[in-house]
Amino acid sequence: MSSGTLQVLEPATEAVLQEIPRADASDVDRAVEHAAAAFPAWRAVSPSDRAAQLRAISDIVREHRDELAQLEARNAGKPIGDARGEMDMVAQVFAYYSGSPERLLGDTIPVSGGHAFTVREPLGVVGLIVPWNFPLTIAAWKMGPALAAGNTIVLKPAELTPLTALRFAELAREAGLPEGVLNVVAGPGSVCGARLVEHPGVAKIAFTGSTEVGRSIAAGAAQTIKRVTLELGGKSPNIVFADADLAAAAAAAPGAVFGNAGQDCCARSRILVQRAAMDEFMGELEAAVTAIRVGDPLSEDTEMGPLISAGQRETVGSFVDNGAPVAFRGSAPDGPGFWFAPTVLCPVDPGARAAREEIFGPVAVVIPFDSEKEAIRLANDTIYGLSGSIWSGDGGRALRVARALDAGVLSINSNTSVRVATPFGGFKQSGYGRELGPHALDAYTEVKSIFFATGV
Ligand code: NDP
Repeated sequence: MSSGTLQVLEPATEAVLQEIPRADASDVDRAVEHAAAAFPAWRAVSPSDRAAQLRAISDIVREHRDELAQLEARNAGKPIGDARGEMDMVAQVFAYYSGSPERLLGDTIPVSGGHAFTVREPLGVVGLIVPWNFPLTIAAWKMGPALAAGNTIVLKPAELTPLTALRFAELAREAGLPEGVLNVVAGPGSVCGARLVEHPGVAKIAFTGSTEVGRSIAAGAAQTIKRVTLELGGKSPNIVFADADLAAAAAAAPGAVFGNAGQDCCARSRILVQRAAMDEFMGELEAAVTAIRVGDPLSEDTEMGPLISAGQRETVGSFVDNGAPVAFRGSAPDGPGFWFAPTVLCPVDPGARAAREEIFGPVAVVIPFDSEKEAIRLANDTIYGLSGSIWSGDGGRALRVARALDAGVLSINSNTSVRVATPFGGFKQSGYGRELGPHALDAYTEVKSIFFATGV
């Protein structure tokens, strides 16, 4: 039985938004049982019918876009415009993966004595553990390919932001998804997440969250040789060469680090600027940062909302306290809500804590460099390797640097990381495995080789 009540807060007001039952380990066991019971029938659904089911989910998300966006904006504290964009992406993910059931192709391999070919089989019950920063979006990145490949799901949203996952599960049922194929357990990670990781009936864990918890998941999953994909933290560089369109780079830089109040694993939180361009770039950046509209997530013109929790505000604050080199700050409301003004630190030593640790809040560091070689060295001088940007008017240089960076998702003269159709994931301690694009299906299927003897 569920143990007690979970009070879900609204970070912009600190008020209770909803109270829901808090799941415990026995709820996880029951959810895994349901998912296991639903698996044989779901994997047997014909590819075209499974495709139609995914399209129906995409459609129902579109129909409920505003309702889901409101819920996400209030619960996660994100600007309503951003939340609508995220719901659009959720719908796109299901539309994209509705093309997959009929395209899960195998190989035929020339051998003697018969025919050898490969097929892709679903894994079974998959456990999806997701964070609070993009609650339904990140869940969708996992649910889309998992369902397309014929798996059934136990989804554990973050305790701070379970509401859109719960509502999505209702909508998916309304759209015809059979009972038991998608199960949501809203309870603490240390209890419900940990139980999913150790559960012998779960074939795979797909996790997004901190590198620290990712490490414990990889270790725990090893006991049952579970498949694991990990999408973890980042400390991504935004490299601005002096030959770049500096106005464009400076105008785009705040969105790349202060978007979602900096609570983004792809946040370009280390801005590396070629020394010759420092003064001009910093002038433009200050104008852009001080213009950011921080406030009520439900107001249409808000560009940045509050942090997710009091704890997160305290952690982020620890990077700005005690004489940190604050170059300039934007504004933030007073009163209730976990507000934090966008902040730029400069000059920052590349060895300083603010330059090395994932802050996960609206704090950027600016570090100057002289040469292309130094930019690459500084950019790669981190345990992380998720994303990054290169701004330069020299295409050859931009491509050279992109190839030299140890990171999974890079953009040139842009700060975007995520597209439904392209693979997303990290190098080094930013994790392993890829989400989105065609590659995500690899992580939700096993390759089976079959030999059919035809005689000689
Ligand atoms: P966590 O890694 O703790 O949480 C991510 C998810 O894992 C949540 O659903 C959480 O559940 C669950 N979880 C927590 N502990 C366990 C466990 N032992 N076993 C299984 N699942 C578990 O991140 P936080 O939310 O605490 O954020 C801390 C820091 O992590 C941030 O400041 C940021 O640096 C980083 N982070 C990175 C993210 C990314 O996108 N790469 C996303 C979120 C955080 P619950 O929250 O319900 O306890």
